[in-house]
Amino acid sequence: MTSYRKKFIVGCNMKGLIKDIQLIPVNFKSTNWDQSTYVVKIIDENGQYGIGECDGPIDVMEGIFSMESAHLWSMNPKDIIIGKDPLDAAAIWNKLYESLLWQGRRGLALFAISGIDIALHDLAGKQLGIPTYQLIGGANKEYATPYMTLYPESSGTGSLKELMGEYELLFEKSKKLGVKAVKLAIMPGEEVSDTKLIDFINEARTKLGYEVDMMVDFLYRWTDPYDVINALKKLEKSNLYFAEAILQHDDIEGHKKVVDKTDMRICGAEMATGIYEIKQWVENSGVAIVQPDINRCGGLSEIRRITEFCDLYGVQVIPHGWKTGITASCGIHYHISSKNGKYFEYLHPELYPSPMRENLVKPEAKIIDGRFNKPTRPGLGIDLNDEFLTSIRKRD
Ligand code: MG
Repeated sequence: MTSYRKKFIVGCNMKGLIKDIQLIPVNFKSTNWDQSTYVVKIIDENGQYGIGECDGPIDVMEGIFSMESAHLWSMNPKDIIIGKDPLDAAAIWNKLYESLLWQGRRGLALFAISGIDIALHDLAGKQLGIPTYQLIGGANKEYATPYMTLYPESSGTGSLKELMGEYELLFEKSKKLGVKAVKLAIMPGEEVSDTKLIDFINEARTKLGYEVDMMVDFLYRWTDPYDVINALKKLEKSNLYFAEAILQHDDIEGHKKVVDKTDMRICGAEMATGIYEIKQWVENSGVAIVQPDINRCGGLSEIRRITEFCDLYGVQVIPHGWKTGITASCGIHYHISSKNGKYFEYLHPELYPSPMRENLVKPEAKIIDGRFNKPTRPGLGIDLNDEFLTSIRKRD
């Protein structure tokens, strides 16, 4: 073995304490949630780094990382993690949670913790030379199976006929990738009656066929549970895998009323942060599926705890995931490690054009017959694309 090769291997498998944390705001187009992110880069004493991301407003995330540490329950996260061992990610999580009790607990501080926790799992995997899924329970599955959210470019502003045309093209593209499940994510708005909406979904199901699972995100359309119950009855022939965001996000009692009257899987909690919110959902709403997002709910440490909790209730965890390649990679590693959920949400660059999703990190995981093989590269298996970051900075 050449000395260079030997050095490379040793360099990839070297433990080391955390020396620095860099924050990289990435704002490609400012408005949409798939066009801006806040990257957390944690560097160890050997110069090795791990990356994570927070799906929060950049200015607010920056505030958390630049605030002055005041007391035990209000600390700048940097003051907690410098000098720590990335292999202690779960213990560091507890310390971060405690240190942000004053202003965090359920909201934006957990977004920041998510970014740190993801970066720690990436770094620890790189230090040990093992893929991140082995740090969060090991392989409970041979393949990670995504569902693909289909997002027509017109965002539903055209006629129903035009929207159906866009969906048909996306169905075709998905089938070429071998996709096992698709979600309709853009629905006609309130200007379209429930009757027309139901006809639209049933027609889409006929066009897609029944070999592929189909889900629908209703985008918080209703406020009255009985409107939902009536609509879902008329959608029975579409055999939806789940119905998402049927009522207002925190209307847990309303969800319970719907769950009691339908056989369809109802899901929710895509905006929930932390296990205590999920606990409330699981114990009171009766939903079949919860959808916390790894880059907002508290990272890989927290989604692992959430999954163990949901296992006790027979509730699936199918994470929300609509961000960059960092979150996409987290989804793959999480799904391999979890026995629980059938799918995880995946933003695929061939189905949704997003420069940030496509370019921020490399390489893109290869989808084979609609699934991803167990990852083999250390950590999350991705690296920041410095060329892309430089081009964004130049543009700004
Ligand atoms: Mg949704």
